[in-house]
Amino acid sequence: MTLLLHIDGKDRPASDGRTLAVRNPATGEHLFDAALGTAADVADAVAAARAAFDDGRWRATHPRERARVLNRAAALLAERIDDYAALETRQIGRPLREMRAQLRRLPEWLEYFAAVAQTAEGTVPNFGPDHLNVVHRVPLGVVGLITPWNHPLLITMKKLSAALAAGNSVVLKPSELGPAVPHRLASLLEEAGVPAGVVNVVTGDGATTGRALSEHPGLNKLDITGGTETGRAIAANAGRSLIPVTAELGGKAPVLIFDDAAIEPAVAGALFAAFIASGQTCVQGARTLVHRSIYEPFVQRLVERAGGLRLGDPMDPATQVGPLVSAGQRDKVADAVQRARAQGARVLCGGRAPDRPGWFYEPTVLAGVARDHELWREEVFGPVTLVAPFEDEDDAVALANDSPFGLAGSVWTRDVGRALRVCDKLDIGIIWVNDHHRIDPASPWGGAKDSGIGSENGLEAYRGYTRPKSVILNTSDRPFDWFAGPDDLRYS
Ligand code: NAD
Repeated sequence: MTLLLHIDGKDRPASDGRTLAVRNPATGEHLFDAALGTAADVADAVAAARAAFDDGRWRATHPRERARVLNRAAALLAERIDDYAALETRQIGRPLREMRAQLRRLPEWLEYFAAVAQTAEGTVPNFGPDHLNVVHRVPLGVVGLITPWNHPLLITMKKLSAALAAGNSVVLKPSELGPAVPHRLASLLEEAGVPAGVVNVVTGDGATTGRALSEHPGLNKLDITGGTETGRAIAANAGRSLIPVTAELGGKAPVLIFDDAAIEPAVAGALFAAFIASGQTCVQGARTLVHRSIYEPFVQRLVERAGGLRLGDPMDPATQVGPLVSAGQRDKVADAVQRARAQGARVLCGGRAPDRPGWFYEPTVLAGVARDHELWREEVFGPVTLVAPFEDEDDAVALANDSPFGLAGSVWTRDVGRALRVCDKLDIGIIWVNDHHRIDPASPWGGAKDSGIGSENGLEAYRGYTRPKSVILNTSDRPFDWFAGPDDLRYS
């Protein structure tokens, strides 16, 4: 089977016929091929999206009608969750248990942005007594969406539902490692009533297809989720055409465990933060920082629990930890742990690939990682967390902020004042208190520093898919002719 491009409502192969293979990370077996879209295919997709935007087939519909279509799509999606979850698990190896839990929530994104479309209002700034200023928000036009493999449908949904609610047309380039479900979403949206040409999907890799999309001068916005270096390359290309960019990039989330936190719930939280998705999430709890007075018992319990996680076939609902997404990703993680060991870090559990087919790596806890080592500073994107003690609140904040990233983090304490003080001082976009990983379509999602630019979710995302159009009406009946006479006709 070959997954084709979806342009102007029709499926077709890449213009040069090339494809790329998609494999099952749990076994290495070949699953299917996907068309490798060329620059010419990207140009066709942008042209189809532009034609759809310009003739108003979606943009000019009443927001209530767009909302009806998005709500119909939410209902169709809810019916297909189990199929889509199984397909996601086969492509990216995340346990079925996780994919079902995640996908079951995705209709909420369509429903939320359907509500926003219907209730969004403009503003009437005070322009003075002689004018009425009406500011509408209008859709941007054609937007390019470039998405990663680690939450293939969630991240597509975050971007698409906001973009469509606002009336834009879209060209989506899903990850080469997990393109099937985002691709199906385009057909589902058309079934629900989104006109052909509004959502176009160009499958392919980053070097060819993603790059061609980021270099296309005909876009009105690019929205990318991926690694920080990918974000930089894409933003530089877009910058040449002054195309605005939203970028959700990497992270190295701190998990701060204070001495008043109850140990068992905090250990459960740190495990959840570090090892869900085999650690392959942008907000993974990669630096577990613990108050020195409870460091020993906390770490002992964390290591016990991490060593007991059930690693196995991701299609088995009992599996808790699946494989990494590719051989390359598994090797990257193993090499980073090896270099940390050579630098003096101690492996408290895991630190090896089990002897079984597929790209597995054991949940790993490391102590003694130096603050200038790559394992402290860089994203590893695997089931690895470091543990380090802190002395007091200021030290905890200093350690947490000692990172090029600022995406997410969590604070575990029962002291409300402390929680609020620490949240205030963290240079981070998303902070959970006594929780981790939680997300809601209404809640802004985005990072500081090298973690990106702008926000997904919530009214912020909707605004990011629109621009203000300011209409200024002269309501005065006073004559005005600047060039007609002396100073008494003032410009005011
Ligand atoms: P990636 O950067 O390798 O790829 C992301 C997407 O960009 C893919 O579709 C890829 O084909 C494309 N791409 C790659 N190089 C490109 C280029 N030069 N030009 C244009 N497109 C290009 O990332 P990945 O491995 O798919 O995903 C993991 C990364 O995503 C991690 O760094 C993770 O932290 C980040 N991420 C961030 C968030 C967030 O919300 N901040 C969420 C999920 C993942």
